[in-house]
Amino acid sequence: MQFFKDIFYIFFPNYCLGCDKTLHNYESYLCTYCRHDLALTYFTDETANRLERSFYGRIKIRAATSLFYYEKHHKAQELIHLLKYKNQQQIGVFLGDWMGNELKNSERFKELDCIVAVPLHPNKLRSRGFNQLDKFGKQLSYHLDIPFINEVLIKKTSSNSQTQKGRFARLKNTEEIFAIQQEHLLRNKHVLLIDDVITTGATMEACYNTLILIEGVTISLVTMTCSKY
Ligand SMILES: [Zn+2]
Repeated sequence: MQFFKDIFYIFFPNYCLGCDKTLHNYESYLCTYCRHDLALTYFTDETANRLERSFYGRIKIRAATSLFYYEKHHKAQELIHLLKYKNQQQIGVFLGDWMGNELKNSERFKELDCIVAVPLHPNKLRSRGFNQLDKFGKQLSYHLDIPFINEVLIKKTSSNSQTQKGRFARLKNTEEIFAIQQEHLLRNKHVLLIDDVITTGATMEACYNTLILIEGVTISLVTMTCSKY
C-alpha cells in the first residue's frame, strides 16, 4: 500500500503530506490543520535559546535554531520520516524555503559564508540514494545566496542506527567518524552546519569538532527539528 501512496503523492501533489486531505489553492504541502500541529520553536531570533544552551560547555557555536520540536507522533516527526525513508524530497524544499526566509530576515544569521550538511556514510548514501539534507541545503543556499559546500566534511565509518541507544553509547559511536578534505574551501569561513534532527547533539558535536580544526572557521547550526529537552 505504501508504494501506491508514494506514487500517489508524486502525481497528485495537491494532497496534504500530513493527512492526505485535498489542499485548498492557498495551501501548499500541508493543510492548515497539519501546519498548526507543527510545534514551532521560534528560536531563530532568540539569543541563548534552549537549543544553544544545550551546547553550553560542549561546543562554541555562534547561533543555533530549529524550525520545529521533534516529538513522537507529531507532524514534524512524520514529515522527517516521509523525507528520509519514503523519498518525499519535496519536504526538504518546503522546509528549506521556510527556514531560508526565517534566516534571511534574522539579524543573528546575517554573516554566514556557506552551508555544510551533516554527511551520510557513502554506503548509506548508496542505499538511500540521496542525502535528506540535499534539497533543504539547496533551498537555504538559494535564499541566503551563499554556496552549499559538500566536498569538505565526510563520514568515515558506518555506524548502526543510533535511535535505541543512550547518550553515552551515541557519543562513543559518533566519536571520530567525521573527517575533512579540501579544507581550503572552508578556511576563515562562517559555516552554517545543517541537520534534520538534533536529539542529544552528539552528531553535531562530532561534526563541529572536526570542522573547527580548519583555520579560522566559526560555526552556526540549523536543524529542521530538535527535541524539547
Ligand atoms: Zn493535513
